[in-house]
Amino acid sequence: MSSFPNTEETMTLIKELVTIPSPSGYTKDAIQFIEQRLEISNVETKRNRKGGLIATLPGKNTSKHRFLTAHVDTLGAIVKEIKTDGRLKIQVIGGFPLNYVEGEYCTIHTVSGKKYTGTILMHQTAVHVYRKAGELKRDTENMEVRIDEVVKSEEETRKLGIEIGDFISFDPRVEKTESGFIKSRHLDDKASAAILIKVIEKLAADQTELPYTTHFLFSNNEEIGYGGNSNIPPEVVEYLAVDMGAIGDGQRTDEFTVSICVKDASGPYHYGLRNHLTEIAKANEIEFKLDIYPYYQSDASAAIHAGHDIIHGLIGPGIDASHAFERTHESSLKHTENLVYHYVQSEMTEE
Ligand SMILES: [Zn+2]
Repeated sequence: MSSFPNTEETMTLIKELVTIPSPSGYTKDAIQFIEQRLEISNVETKRNRKGGLIATLPGKNTSKHRFLTAHVDTLGAIVKEIKTDGRLKIQVIGGFPLNYVEGEYCTIHTVSGKKYTGTILMHQTAVHVYRKAGELKRDTENMEVRIDEVVKSEEETRKLGIEIGDFISFDPRVEKTESGFIKSRHLDDKASAAILIKVIEKLAADQTELPYTTHFLFSNNEEIGYGGNSNIPPEVVEYLAVDMGAIGDGQRTDEFTVSICVKDASGPYHYGLRNHLTEIAKANEIEFKLDIYPYYQSDASAAIHAGHDIIHGLIGPGIDASHAFERTHESSLKHTENLVYHYVQSEMTEE
């Protein structure tokens, strides 16, 4: 028997997930991957119309349900315009400054299913030509995609099948280090998606009976604000979003513990649920940090905003340099996975 959580396995799964391109609006492949994976464990799943996936584990109490979510959509871009020199102007999907993707390798996904690679560059990159290359603003006006094909005109690019509206994904450049880190784009929130999958598989393998019927939504529109705000059955009492913890000056969140969010830009999370989560952590040697994320909203707050009468919470692994060159440590993954595992087996706070 392998121990649980097995962070080696979780990291392998994260690696697989971040390698599947899934910018918001183009998440079919990531969702299908999870669907097929859960099928092996005989877990009942269904898709919602938005394209997310809901896995349900039946529990002893069927009148009160739990709902957990992690999102598989990521930041990305879309073709806005084909320039006269054949390069691409883009718009971004999700929130990030463009310098976070300067120099990044990317893939353009055409409607017919063709894939072309390219690089996101400042138009004025060559220092031998542009004296102010370093000073110019990193924005969608100045930045473009250089396609790795012999194209010199708009017509030649169009001939490849590239069109306005084609999705662009970023190379995740995923790497595991000897020191236990995993660095990659899109750890937000594929690290948490992997954690939910591993917990579901563990519960299914052990045939653990949960105290309450529990739904796991792999949402696919979080980065644009509305992934987890629907398909919440009326029986759902508790809704826990599992999404990255934000690290920076003044933050307690780190790459080694599970972050329990007390408040983000949407306001405080449910006090009782937050305290319940810290109790579980304390009782199970789970290292955690309570924290406030100043510029952050989650699928749980989206559900509240959509009018659902639920108790909502937010936890997740601490992710350094979020929405940019992300990194976390196996230790944070372990504590987050453990907290999710114990939480779904706990009694509800508000009876
Ligand atoms: Zn996220």
